[in-house]
Amino acid sequence: MAEIFYIECLDCGHKTEYRLHESRCPACNGKWRVARYEEDPALGKKLLERIKSRPFDFWRCIELLPIKERSEISMGEGGTPLLRAENLGLMLGLKNLYIKDERQNPTNSFKDRQAILTISALKEAGVNEAVLASTGNVAISYSAYASRAGIKLWTFITSLVPAEKMREVAIYGSQVIKVTASYDQAKALAAQFAKQQAGGLYLERGTRSISTLESMKTVAFEIAEQLAEKLSPGSATTPWRTPDWYFQSLSGGVGAVGVMKGYRELRQMGLVDDVPQIAGIQSAGCAPMAKAWKANQDVADPVLTPHTKIATLATGDPGRTYTLLRKWMLEERGGTFESITDEEAFRAMHVLAEMEGMSMEPAAAVAFAGLIKMTRAGQIDPDEVIVVNCTGHTLPTEKMILDDDWSRDVSLPPRAEEEAEIFPEDGILSALSRVTPDKYSHIAIVDDHPHARRLIRRILQSQGEYTFYEAQNGSEAIRIAQEKLPDLMILDLMMPKQDGFTVLDQLRSQPETASIPVIVVTAKTLTPQEKQRLQGRIHALLQKGNFMDNELLEEVKSLTK
Ligand SMILES: *Cc1c(COP(=O)(O)O)cnc(C)c1O
Ligand SMILES: [Zn+2]
Repeated sequence: MAEIFYIECLDCGHKTEYRLHESRCPACNGKWRVARYEEDPALGKKLLERIKSRPFDFWRCIELLPIKERSEISMGEGGTPLLRAENLGLMLGLKNLYIKDERQNPTNSFKDRQAILTISALKEAGVNEAVLASTGNVAISYSAYASRAGIKLWTFITSLVPAEKMREVAIYGSQVIKVTASYDQAKALAAQFAKQQAGGLYLERGTRSISTLESMKTVAFEIAEQLAEKLSPGSATTPWRTPDWYFQSLSGGVGAVGVMKGYRELRQMGLVDDVPQIAGIQSAGCAPMAKAWKANQDVADPVLTPHTKIATLATGDPGRTYTLLRKWMLEERGGTFESITDEEAFRAMHVLAEMEGMSMEPAAAVAFAGLIKMTRAGQIDPDEVIVVNCTGHTLPTEKMILDDDWSRDVSLPPRAEEEAEIFPEDGILSALSRVTPDKYSHIAIVDDHPHARRLIRRILQSQGEYTFYEAQNGSEAIRIAQEKLPDLMILDLMMPKQDGFTVLDQLRSQPETASIPVIVVTAKTLTPQEKQRLQGRIHALLQKGNFMDNELLEEVKSLTK
């Protein structure tokens, strides 16, 4: 904690010291107050010096948190990796795409940052009972830390939350009150309950709880330092880095506000030169902020009945969090609020799992679906530095994510008692033939760049079963076409020696290969003459670099039915 630290009312500017139980301004009774720190111009330099001997974890910039020392109930939260998303970047044509992997927190979501700080503050203040409402992850995370701190927790959880998550809350020993109503109603109920108890119980208030909001700044601190290490320092005077965009899925919005506040404080200390543009992504069935933003409103109309399967993001009434976030965004570099459908989020889950090896919960995938949507709409520059927060892990994979045919059933004929062999061999072979049937379409991918071939293969593999042949030049392509007679060829035009045009000429001149469908994928803008040469001889022409998985997939699917 900094030497000078106080709470300032956003309505009347009144300053007070930090008192855990005080939730309103003593001067004007206003509900909206934020923490402020000493304005020591040398703090940035001092901090850089001090952190040299500190581990890279949640507590690294403790001067900027409302707590005196590292908490004993810590479980190693924060300090999560910033991963380069090479494959997704290639697919979207983005050169500097990074993922902040918040799944790697103790209970697998970024809520652990809030939980460690708030529960530690409660413990420090001698509180032994508290109340919260949750769309799932707050309850899980706070419960884990509350059990370490010996604090009894009452959790009000909307019935939309998957049973797997509710059971996890219960296993930590928390009281689980399942509320068959919206999250906002569960919140109101929790507040009422806290007030009713003798003396009043501590109530978690999201953006309005000082420790909760402050904890989310640590995401900004870590990204700033990690980006400087991965890319290069900002400059001699501002050693850390700001991404051009920070993507996060939004429910109540405390995460995004915290990251914004964190960057503003880093800038004030001279550690970065700017704040990022925030892209706050919501699920279309519960998108009060995205709707208000598009309508240019500074107050969001609450969504009374959210229509989304993604319960984690079902805050219907963001209240003043939206107004504050919008105000800061407009004062700074801007940014945007966007919404995507549940289906787009589920699809993004598959893409991220299959292309980056990252399995995440639908709520986290919402941010990635937003990135894909905005990139397609041309709102993102290919050279911009982008960080997407992968906010939480899914375990177990919820039922709605996969179709019924996600597994292959293999059954062996019953074995007669006296049979010596464990399994009759022909039985095994015929059973296994169903695991890898040879009925998949055969696709030849022709490109001289191994990167490009791998990318096309990954995109197609993520959505279906295909057998691939790869050729790195024209003559290999022709040999494969003749020997394997693929169902489809995906052809690059620009290759040394025999280019795509030559391959096409040769394919079409031989009767056996003349009818193989060809999709041309090119990075080049074609001249009218070149277009003429392709006319009537190919099935689709797609632009490389930022050609999109959807376009390619649809063409491939229609040609390999
Ligand atoms: C809570 C949560 C969000 C939304 O964060 P807010 O700060 O409430 O807007 C997104 N993803 C996951 C996994 C979450 O748990
Ligand atoms: Zn006030």
